[in-house]
Amino acid sequence: MLSINQNKCDLCGKCIETCPFGAMDIIEGRVVINEACKMCRICLKTCPGKAIVATDGIREKANINNWKGILVFAEQLEGQIHPVTLELIGKSKELASKMNHPVTCIFIGHKIKEKAEGLLEYGLDKVFVYDHKEFEYYRGDIYTNAFEHCITRSKPSIVLVGATSVGRSLAPRVATRFRTGLTADCTTLDVKENSDLIQIRPAFGGNIMAQIVTEHSRPQFATVRYKVMEKAQKEINLPVSILSEMQDKLEFCSLPKNKMKSSIEVLNVIPKEKELSISEAEVIVAGGRGIRDKKDLAMLEELAQLLGGQTAVTRPLVEAGWAPYTKQIGLSGRTVRPRLIITCGISGAVQFTSCMNSAQCIIAINKNKNAPIFKTAHYGIVGDLYEIVPLLCGMIRKGRIMDAV
Ligand SMILES: Cc1cc2nc3c(=O)[nH]c(=O)nc-3n(C[C@H](O)[C@H](O)[C@H](O)COP(=O)(O)OP(=O)(O)OC[C@H]3O[C@@H](n4cnc5c(N)ncnc54)[C@H](O)[C@@H]3O)c2cc1C
Repeated sequence: MLSINQNKCDLCGKCIETCPFGAMDIIEGRVVINEACKMCRICLKTCPGKAIVATDGIREKANINNWKGILVFAEQLEGQIHPVTLELIGKSKELASKMNHPVTCIFIGHKIKEKAEGLLEYGLDKVFVYDHKEFEYYRGDIYTNAFEHCITRSKPSIVLVGATSVGRSLAPRVATRFRTGLTADCTTLDVKENSDLIQIRPAFGGNIMAQIVTEHSRPQFATVRYKVMEKAQKEINLPVSILSEMQDKLEFCSLPKNKMKSSIEVLNVIPKEKELSISEAEVIVAGGRGIRDKKDLAMLEELAQLLGGQTAVTRPLVEAGWAPYTKQIGLSGRTVRPRLIITCGISGAVQFTSCMNSAQCIIAINKNKNAPIFKTAHYGIVGDLYEIVPLLCGMIRKGRIMDAV
Protein backbone atom coordinates (compact mmCIF):
# COMPACT_ATOMS: atom_id res chain seq x y z
CA MET A 1 0.00 0.00 0.00
CA LEU A 2 1.10 3.55 -0.70
CA SER A 3 0.08 6.49 1.39
CA ILE A 4 0.72 10.21 1.30
CA ASN A 5 2.04 12.23 4.20
CA GLN A 6 0.01 15.38 3.52
CA ASN A 7 2.21 17.44 5.88
CA LYS A 8 5.21 16.82 3.67
CA CYS A 9 3.34 17.24 0.34
CA ASP A 10 3.71 20.71 -1.20
CA LEU A 11 1.40 19.89 -4.18
CA CYS A 12 4.27 20.21 -6.68
CA GLY A 13 2.45 17.80 -9.04
CA LYS A 14 5.59 15.80 -9.90
CA CYS A 15 3.85 12.51 -9.01
CA ILE A 16 0.88 13.33 -11.26
CA GLU A 17 3.24 14.16 -14.11
CA THR A 18 5.28 10.95 -13.81
CA CYS A 19 2.61 8.37 -12.89
CA PRO A 20 2.25 6.19 -16.02
CA PHE A 21 -1.24 5.02 -14.99
CA GLY A 22 -2.88 8.37 -14.21
CA ALA A 23 -3.39 7.15 -10.67
CA MET A 24 -2.65 10.44 -8.84
CA ASP A 25 -5.10 13.36 -8.57
CA ILE A 26 -5.37 16.58 -6.61
CA ILE A 27 -8.77 16.66 -4.96
CA GLU A 28 -9.77 19.48 -2.59
CA GLY A 29 -6.18 20.58 -2.21
CA ARG A 30 -4.81 17.12 -1.38
CA VAL A 31 -2.95 14.58 -3.52
CA VAL A 32 -4.85 11.30 -3.57
CA ILE A 33 -4.09 7.92 -5.10
CA ASN A 34 -6.95 6.45 -7.12
CA GLU A 35 -7.91 2.89 -8.08
CA ALA A 36 -5.73 2.97 -11.24
CA CYS A 37 -2.62 2.57 -9.05
CA LYS A 38 -0.60 -0.49 -10.07
CA MET A 39 1.93 -0.17 -7.23
CA CYS A 40 4.76 0.51 -9.65
CA ARG A 41 6.22 2.87 -7.01
CA ILE A 42 7.59 5.34 -9.55
CA CYS A 43 5.99 8.15 -7.49
CA LEU A 44 8.05 7.08 -4.49
CA LYS A 45 11.22 7.84 -6.40
CA THR A 46 10.03 11.04 -8.06
CA CYS A 47 8.42 12.82 -5.09
CA PRO A 48 10.99 15.53 -4.17
CA GLY A 49 9.67 15.91 -0.59
CA LYS A 50 9.53 12.12 0.11
CA ALA A 51 5.87 12.58 0.99
CA ILE A 52 4.81 9.24 -0.53
CA VAL A 53 5.56 6.16 1.52
CA ALA A 54 5.06 2.44 1.06
CA THR A 55 3.27 1.21 4.16
CA ASP A 56 4.08 -2.43 3.39
CA GLY A 57 7.76 -1.60 3.12
CA ILE A 58 10.12 -2.62 0.36
CA ARG A 59 11.12 -6.26 0.23
CA GLU A 60 14.68 -7.09 0.86
CA LYS A 61 16.61 -8.76 -1.91
CA ALA A 62 16.41 -12.56 -1.57
CA ASN A 63 19.60 -14.44 -0.89
CA ILE A 64 19.79 -16.17 -4.24
CA ASN A 65 22.32 -18.72 -2.97
CA ASN A 66 19.53 -20.27 -0.89
CA TRP A 67 17.61 -21.21 -4.04
CA LYS A 68 18.88 -23.84 -6.42
CA GLY A 69 17.51 -25.87 -9.33
CA ILE A 70 14.70 -25.73 -11.86
CA LEU A 71 11.28 -27.11 -10.93
CA VAL A 72 8.90 -28.00 -13.76
CA PHE A 73 5.14 -28.36 -13.25
CA ALA A 74 4.20 -31.67 -14.88
CA GLU A 75 0.61 -31.12 -15.94
CA GLN A 76 -1.69 -34.09 -16.33
CA LEU A 77 -5.32 -34.78 -17.04
CA GLU A 78 -6.64 -38.20 -16.04
CA GLY A 79 -3.04 -39.40 -15.87
CA GLN A 80 -2.10 -38.21 -19.36
CA ILE A 81 0.88 -35.87 -19.19
CA HIS A 82 0.46 -32.70 -21.24
CA PRO A 83 3.20 -32.63 -23.92
CA VAL A 84 4.22 -29.08 -22.93
CA THR A 85 5.77 -30.74 -19.84
CA LEU A 86 8.37 -32.49 -22.02
CA GLU A 87 9.17 -29.21 -23.74
CA LEU A 88 9.73 -27.55 -20.35
CA ILE A 89 11.93 -30.43 -19.20
CA GLY A 90 13.98 -30.15 -22.40
CA LYS A 91 14.57 -26.43 -21.87
CA SER A 92 15.24 -26.86 -18.16
CA LYS A 93 17.98 -29.41 -18.81
CA GLU A 94 19.66 -27.02 -21.22
CA LEU A 95 19.45 -24.10 -18.74
CA ALA A 96 20.45 -26.19 -15.73
CA SER A 97 23.61 -27.43 -17.47
CA LYS A 98 24.80 -23.80 -17.69
CA MET A 99 24.52 -23.38 -13.90
CA ASN A 100 25.12 -26.95 -12.76
CA HIS A 101 21.71 -27.02 -11.08
CA PRO A 102 19.34 -30.01 -10.70
CA VAL A 103 16.08 -30.35 -12.67
CA THR A 104 13.04 -31.60 -10.79
CA CYS A 105 9.30 -31.96 -11.45
CA ILE A 106 6.22 -31.52 -9.35
CA PHE A 107 3.50 -33.95 -10.35
CA ILE A 108 0.03 -33.61 -8.82
CA GLY A 109 -2.85 -36.01 -9.48
CA HIS A 110 -4.42 -39.31 -8.53
CA LYS A 111 -3.05 -42.82 -9.26
CA ILE A 112 -0.06 -41.32 -11.05
CA LYS A 113 2.84 -43.40 -9.69
CA GLU A 114 3.47 -45.19 -12.99
CA LYS A 115 3.43 -41.94 -14.94
CA ALA A 116 5.78 -40.40 -12.39
CA GLU A 117 8.24 -43.24 -13.05
CA GLY A 118 7.90 -42.52 -16.74
CA LEU A 119 8.97 -38.92 -16.14
CA LEU A 120 12.26 -40.19 -14.67
CA GLU A 121 13.14 -41.56 -18.11
CA TYR A 122 13.86 -37.97 -19.13
CA GLY A 123 16.82 -37.82 -16.75
CA LEU A 124 15.24 -35.77 -13.96
CA ASP A 125 17.00 -35.45 -10.62
CA LYS A 126 13.77 -35.84 -8.66
CA VAL A 127 10.00 -36.00 -9.10
CA PHE A 128 7.88 -34.73 -6.21
CA VAL A 129 4.63 -36.69 -6.38
CA TYR A 130 1.40 -35.49 -4.74
CA ASP A 131 -0.88 -38.47 -5.32
CA HIS A 132 -4.30 -38.23 -3.66
CA LYS A 133 -7.97 -38.68 -4.58
CA GLU A 134 -8.53 -34.96 -3.83
CA PHE A 135 -6.08 -34.11 -6.63
CA GLU A 136 -7.93 -36.12 -9.28
CA TYR A 137 -9.08 -32.98 -11.07
CA TYR A 138 -7.49 -29.57 -11.08
CA ARG A 139 -8.70 -27.42 -8.20
CA GLY A 140 -6.83 -24.15 -7.91
CA ASP A 141 -6.77 -23.86 -4.12
CA ILE A 142 -5.39 -27.27 -3.14
CA TYR A 143 -3.10 -27.54 -6.18
CA THR A 144 -1.64 -24.19 -5.05
CA ASN A 145 -1.17 -25.61 -1.54
CA ALA A 146 0.74 -28.61 -2.93
CA PHE A 147 2.86 -26.42 -5.20
CA GLU A 148 3.68 -24.08 -2.29
CA HIS A 149 4.58 -27.07 -0.10
CA CYS A 150 6.95 -28.41 -2.77
CA ILE A 151 8.67 -25.06 -3.34
CA THR A 152 9.08 -24.43 0.38
CA ARG A 153 10.88 -27.73 0.86
CA SER A 154 12.91 -27.86 -2.37
CA LYS A 155 13.69 -24.13 -2.82
CA PRO A 156 14.11 -24.04 -6.61
CA SER A 157 15.59 -20.96 -8.21
CA ILE A 158 13.35 -21.23 -11.28
CA VAL A 159 9.83 -22.62 -11.70
CA LEU A 160 8.49 -23.36 -15.19
CA VAL A 161 4.82 -23.93 -15.96
CA GLY A 162 3.08 -24.52 -19.31
CA ALA A 163 0.94 -21.60 -20.47
CA THR A 164 -2.11 -23.87 -20.68
CA SER A 165 -5.51 -23.10 -19.13
CA VAL A 166 -4.42 -24.90 -15.93
CA GLY A 167 -0.92 -23.36 -15.94
CA ARG A 168 -2.26 -19.86 -16.47
CA SER A 169 -4.55 -20.27 -13.49
CA LEU A 170 -2.06 -22.00 -11.19
CA ALA A 171 1.25 -20.17 -11.76
CA PRO A 172 0.09 -16.69 -10.64
CA ARG A 173 -1.54 -18.12 -7.52
CA VAL A 174 1.69 -19.83 -6.47
CA ALA A 175 3.91 -16.87 -7.45
CA THR A 176 1.73 -14.61 -5.28
CA ARG A 177 2.27 -16.88 -2.26
CA PHE A 178 6.02 -16.26 -2.60
CA ARG A 179 5.55 -12.56 -3.49
CA THR A 180 7.77 -13.03 -6.50
CA GLY A 181 7.71 -12.19 -10.21
CA LEU A 182 6.01 -14.18 -12.93
CA THR A 183 6.58 -13.68 -16.64
CA ALA A 184 3.76 -15.10 -18.72
CA ASP A 185 3.94 -16.60 -22.20
CA CYS A 186 7.72 -16.59 -22.64
CA THR A 187 8.93 -17.53 -26.10
CA THR A 188 12.67 -17.75 -25.29
CA LEU A 189 14.47 -18.50 -22.03
CA ASP A 190 18.11 -18.17 -21.13
CA VAL A 191 19.97 -17.98 -17.87
CA LYS A 192 22.88 -16.02 -16.42
CA GLU A 193 25.61 -17.75 -14.44
CA ASN A 194 24.20 -16.27 -11.23
CA SER A 195 20.89 -18.11 -11.96
CA ASP A 196 18.94 -15.00 -13.07
CA LEU A 197 16.46 -16.24 -15.67
CA ILE A 198 16.31 -14.16 -18.85
CA GLN A 199 12.67 -14.30 -19.83
CA ILE A 200 11.98 -13.15 -23.36
CA ARG A 201 8.48 -12.50 -24.65
CA PRO A 202 6.76 -10.21 -27.15
CA ALA A 203 5.48 -6.98 -25.63
CA PHE A 204 3.57 -3.92 -26.82
CA GLY A 205 1.51 -5.91 -29.33
CA GLY A 206 4.52 -7.89 -30.49
CA ASN A 207 6.45 -4.81 -31.60
CA ILE A 208 9.33 -5.49 -29.22
CA MET A 209 10.81 -8.58 -27.64
CA ALA A 210 11.10 -7.72 -23.94
CA GLN A 211 13.82 -9.26 -21.76
CA ILE A 212 12.55 -9.60 -18.23
CA VAL A 213 14.70 -10.52 -15.23
CA THR A 214 13.45 -11.14 -11.68
CA GLU A 215 16.65 -10.04 -9.95
CA HIS A 216 15.47 -9.41 -6.41
CA SER A 217 13.26 -12.36 -5.53
CA ARG A 218 13.21 -16.12 -5.74
CA PRO A 219 11.85 -18.35 -7.12
CA GLN A 220 11.53 -16.93 -10.61
CA PHE A 221 8.28 -18.02 -12.27
CA ALA A 222 7.74 -18.25 -16.02
CA THR A 223 4.99 -19.74 -18.13
CA VAL A 224 5.83 -20.98 -21.62
CA ARG A 225 3.46 -21.66 -24.46
CA TYR A 226 3.02 -25.13 -25.91
CA LYS A 227 5.06 -25.83 -29.08
CA VAL A 228 7.59 -23.07 -28.50
CA MET A 229 10.48 -25.19 -27.15
CA GLU A 230 12.05 -28.49 -28.23
CA LYS A 231 10.80 -31.63 -26.50
CA ALA A 232 13.16 -33.48 -24.14
CA GLN A 233 14.40 -36.84 -25.38
CA LYS A 234 14.29 -39.94 -23.21
CA GLU A 235 17.66 -40.64 -21.59
CA ILE A 236 16.81 -44.11 -20.28
CA ASN A 237 15.08 -46.74 -22.34
CA LEU A 238 14.73 -49.52 -19.83
CA PRO A 239 11.49 -49.83 -17.85
CA VAL A 240 12.26 -47.53 -14.95
CA SER A 241 10.38 -49.67 -12.45
CA ILE A 242 13.19 -52.23 -12.51
CA LEU A 243 15.90 -49.71 -11.74
CA SER A 244 15.78 -49.59 -7.97
CA GLU A 245 18.15 -46.65 -7.66
CA MET A 246 15.74 -44.63 -9.77
CA GLN A 247 12.99 -45.17 -7.22
CA ASP A 248 14.89 -42.89 -4.83
CA LYS A 249 14.26 -40.10 -7.24
CA LEU A 250 10.52 -40.35 -6.66
CA GLU A 251 9.48 -38.47 -3.55
CA PHE A 252 5.91 -39.02 -2.42
CA CYS A 253 4.68 -35.98 -0.53
CA SER A 254 1.55 -35.27 1.47
CA LEU A 255 -0.08 -32.16 2.86
CA PRO A 256 -1.52 -31.56 6.31
CA LYS A 257 -5.31 -32.15 6.46
CA ASN A 258 -6.22 -28.47 6.59
CA LYS A 259 -4.30 -27.86 3.34
CA MET A 260 -6.30 -30.55 1.56
CA LYS A 261 -9.66 -28.85 2.11
CA SER A 262 -10.89 -27.33 -1.13
CA SER A 263 -13.68 -24.81 -1.49
CA ILE A 264 -14.23 -26.12 -5.01
CA GLU A 265 -16.44 -29.16 -5.49
CA VAL A 266 -16.24 -31.02 -8.78
CA LEU A 267 -19.82 -32.07 -9.46
CA ASN A 268 -19.37 -33.62 -12.85
CA VAL A 269 -16.75 -33.81 -15.56
CA ILE A 270 -18.02 -33.60 -19.12
CA PRO A 271 -15.22 -34.27 -21.62
CA LYS A 272 -15.09 -31.81 -24.47
CA GLU A 273 -15.53 -33.31 -27.89
CA LYS A 274 -12.04 -34.01 -29.16
CA GLU A 275 -11.30 -31.54 -31.90
CA LEU A 276 -8.28 -31.34 -34.12
CA SER A 277 -5.91 -28.74 -32.83
CA ILE A 278 -3.77 -26.66 -35.18
CA SER A 279 -0.98 -26.86 -32.57
CA GLU A 280 -0.71 -30.59 -33.29
CA ALA A 281 -0.89 -30.33 -37.10
CA GLU A 282 2.10 -31.49 -39.17
CA VAL A 283 0.87 -29.59 -42.24
CA ILE A 284 -1.04 -26.28 -42.21
CA VAL A 285 -2.56 -24.25 -45.01
CA ALA A 286 -3.19 -20.78 -43.55
CA GLY A 287 -5.41 -18.10 -45.07
CA GLY A 288 -5.33 -14.35 -44.51
CA ARG A 289 -7.09 -11.23 -45.68
CA GLY A 290 -6.07 -12.03 -49.27
CA ILE A 291 -9.09 -14.38 -49.18
CA ARG A 292 -12.00 -12.35 -50.57
CA ASP A 293 -14.96 -14.40 -49.35
CA LYS A 294 -15.67 -16.91 -46.58
CA LYS A 295 -16.67 -19.57 -49.13
CA ASP A 296 -13.21 -19.34 -50.74
CA LEU A 297 -11.74 -20.96 -47.63
CA ALA A 298 -13.00 -24.23 -49.18
CA MET A 299 -10.12 -23.90 -51.66
CA LEU A 300 -7.60 -23.91 -48.78
CA GLU A 301 -9.46 -26.79 -47.12
CA GLU A 302 -9.04 -28.82 -50.31
CA LEU A 303 -5.29 -28.15 -50.44
CA ALA A 304 -4.97 -29.00 -46.73
CA GLN A 305 -6.82 -32.28 -47.21
CA LEU A 306 -4.68 -33.24 -50.19
CA LEU A 307 -1.59 -32.70 -48.02
CA GLY A 308 -3.10 -34.47 -45.01
CA GLY A 309 -3.14 -31.26 -42.96
CA GLN A 310 -5.40 -28.65 -41.44
CA THR A 311 -6.40 -25.10 -42.27
CA ALA A 312 -5.70 -22.09 -40.05
CA VAL A 313 -6.27 -18.34 -40.38
CA THR A 314 -5.04 -14.91 -39.32
CA ARG A 315 -6.86 -12.83 -36.74
CA PRO A 316 -8.87 -10.63 -39.18
CA LEU A 317 -10.63 -13.74 -40.52
CA VAL A 318 -11.61 -14.81 -37.02
CA GLU A 319 -12.83 -11.28 -36.28
CA ALA A 320 -14.91 -11.41 -39.47
CA GLY A 321 -16.53 -14.59 -38.14
CA TRP A 322 -15.18 -16.69 -41.03
CA ALA A 323 -13.36 -19.17 -38.79
CA PRO A 324 -13.43 -20.13 -35.11
CA TYR A 325 -10.87 -18.71 -32.69
CA THR A 326 -9.31 -22.18 -32.32
CA LYS A 327 -8.03 -21.79 -35.90
CA GLN A 328 -6.18 -18.53 -35.26
CA ILE A 329 -2.39 -18.52 -35.40
CA GLY A 330 -0.66 -15.71 -33.55
CA LEU A 331 0.04 -13.90 -30.34
CA SER A 332 -3.59 -13.74 -29.38
CA GLY A 333 -4.24 -17.20 -30.89
CA ARG A 334 -2.20 -20.42 -31.00
CA THR A 335 1.46 -21.17 -31.58
CA VAL A 336 2.17 -23.78 -34.26
CA ARG A 337 5.26 -25.75 -35.21
CA PRO A 338 4.31 -27.88 -38.23
CA ARG A 339 6.62 -29.58 -40.69
CA LEU A 340 5.07 -27.53 -43.51
CA ILE A 341 2.98 -24.35 -43.53
CA ILE A 342 1.68 -22.67 -46.68
CA THR A 343 0.50 -19.12 -46.05
CA CYS A 344 -2.01 -17.76 -48.59
CA GLY A 345 -2.72 -14.03 -48.77
CA ILE A 346 -1.02 -13.27 -45.42
CA SER A 347 1.11 -10.13 -45.10
CA GLY A 348 3.39 -11.43 -42.32
CA ALA A 349 2.71 -9.17 -39.32
CA VAL A 350 4.98 -9.98 -36.38
CA GLN A 351 1.96 -10.95 -34.25
CA PHE A 352 1.37 -13.75 -36.77
CA THR A 353 4.91 -14.78 -37.73
CA SER A 354 6.27 -14.96 -34.17
CA CYS A 355 3.93 -17.90 -33.57
CA MET A 356 4.67 -19.92 -36.72
CA ASN A 357 8.29 -19.14 -37.60
CA SER A 358 9.59 -22.37 -36.01
CA ALA A 359 7.89 -24.41 -38.75
CA GLN A 360 10.36 -26.62 -40.60
CA CYS A 361 9.29 -25.37 -44.04
CA ILE A 362 7.38 -22.16 -44.75
CA ILE A 363 5.96 -21.44 -48.21
CA ALA A 364 4.31 -18.04 -48.73
CA ILE A 365 1.92 -17.09 -51.51
CA ASN A 366 1.36 -13.34 -51.80
CA LYS A 367 0.73 -11.09 -54.77
CA ASN A 368 2.87 -8.29 -53.28
CA LYS A 369 6.55 -9.11 -53.76
CA ASN A 370 7.44 -6.73 -50.91
CA ALA A 371 5.15 -8.40 -48.34
CA PRO A 372 7.08 -9.00 -45.05
CA ILE A 373 6.04 -12.67 -45.04
CA PHE A 374 8.74 -13.32 -47.65
CA LYS A 375 11.37 -12.48 -45.00
CA THR A 376 10.08 -15.34 -42.85
CA ALA A 377 9.34 -17.85 -45.63
CA HIS A 378 11.84 -20.41 -46.91
CA TYR A 379 10.11 -20.40 -50.32
CA GLY A 380 8.01 -17.58 -51.76
CA ILE A 381 5.51 -17.57 -54.61
CA VAL A 382 4.65 -14.06 -55.85
CA GLY A 383 1.21 -14.29 -57.41
CA ASP A 384 -2.55 -14.49 -57.00
CA LEU A 385 -3.58 -17.20 -54.55
CA TYR A 386 -6.78 -17.69 -56.57
CA GLU A 387 -4.61 -18.97 -59.42
CA ILE A 388 -1.85 -20.67 -57.44
CA VAL A 389 -3.86 -22.69 -54.89
CA PRO A 390 -6.05 -24.46 -57.53
CA LEU A 391 -2.89 -25.04 -59.58
CA LEU A 392 -1.16 -26.67 -56.59
CA CYS A 393 -4.24 -28.82 -55.89
CA GLY A 394 -4.30 -29.93 -59.52
CA MET A 395 -0.58 -30.75 -59.49
CA ILE A 396 -0.85 -32.79 -56.28
CA ARG A 397 -3.82 -34.73 -57.66
CA LYS A 398 -1.99 -35.34 -60.92
CA GLY A 399 1.08 -36.46 -58.99
CA ARG A 400 -1.05 -38.93 -57.09
CA ILE A 401 -2.57 -40.27 -60.31
CA MET A 402 0.92 -40.62 -61.82
CA ASP A 403 2.06 -42.46 -58.65
CA ALA A 404 -0.93 -44.80 -58.92
CA VAL A 405 -0.08 -45.53 -62.58
C1 LIG B 1 -2.05 -7.02 -29.73
C2 LIG B 1 -2.25 -7.60 -31.10
C3 LIG B 1 -2.39 -8.97 -31.21
C4 LIG B 1 -2.57 -9.54 -32.48
N1 LIG B 1 -2.71 -10.89 -32.57
C5 LIG B 1 -2.78 -11.45 -33.80
C6 LIG B 1 -2.86 -12.87 -33.94
O1 LIG B 1 -2.89 -13.62 -32.96
N2 LIG B 1 -2.90 -13.38 -35.18
C7 LIG B 1 -2.90 -12.59 -36.33
O2 LIG B 1 -2.95 -13.13 -37.44
N3 LIG B 1 -2.88 -11.26 -36.21
C8 LIG B 1 -2.82 -10.66 -34.97
N4 LIG B 1 -2.81 -9.32 -34.89
C9 LIG B 1 -3.05 -8.54 -36.12
C10 LIG B 1 -1.81 -8.38 -36.98
O3 LIG B 1 -1.13 -7.22 -36.58
C11 LIG B 1 -2.19 -8.21 -38.48
O4 LIG B 1 -3.11 -7.15 -38.62
C12 LIG B 1 -2.80 -9.46 -39.11
O5 LIG B 1 -1.99 -10.58 -38.86
C13 LIG B 1 -2.93 -9.25 -40.62
O6 LIG B 1 -3.61 -10.34 -41.18
P1 LIG B 1 -3.46 -10.66 -42.73
O7 LIG B 1 -2.03 -10.91 -43.05
O8 LIG B 1 -4.44 -11.74 -43.00
O9 LIG B 1 -4.01 -9.34 -43.44
P2 LIG B 1 -3.26 -8.18 -44.21
O10 LIG B 1 -2.19 -7.61 -43.39
O11 LIG B 1 -4.32 -7.27 -44.70
O12 LIG B 1 -2.56 -8.90 -45.44
C14 LIG B 1 -3.23 -9.43 -46.54
C15 LIG B 1 -2.18 -9.85 -47.54
O13 LIG B 1 -2.80 -10.56 -48.59
C16 LIG B 1 -2.16 -10.21 -49.81
N5 LIG B 1 -3.12 -10.49 -50.87
C17 LIG B 1 -4.30 -9.84 -51.14
N6 LIG B 1 -4.94 -10.45 -52.15
C18 LIG B 1 -4.18 -11.50 -52.54
C19 LIG B 1 -4.32 -12.49 -53.53
N7 LIG B 1 -5.40 -12.56 -54.32
N8 LIG B 1 -3.33 -13.41 -53.65
C20 LIG B 1 -2.23 -13.39 -52.88
N9 LIG B 1 -2.05 -12.45 -51.91
C21 LIG B 1 -3.02 -11.53 -51.74
C22 LIG B 1 -1.78 -8.77 -49.64
O14 LIG B 1 -0.69 -8.43 -50.49
C23 LIG B 1 -1.42 -8.69 -48.17
O15 LIG B 1 -0.03 -8.87 -47.98
C24 LIG B 1 -2.64 -8.72 -33.64
C25 LIG B 1 -2.48 -7.34 -33.50
C26 LIG B 1 -2.30 -6.79 -32.26
C27 LIG B 1 -2.16 -5.32 -32.14
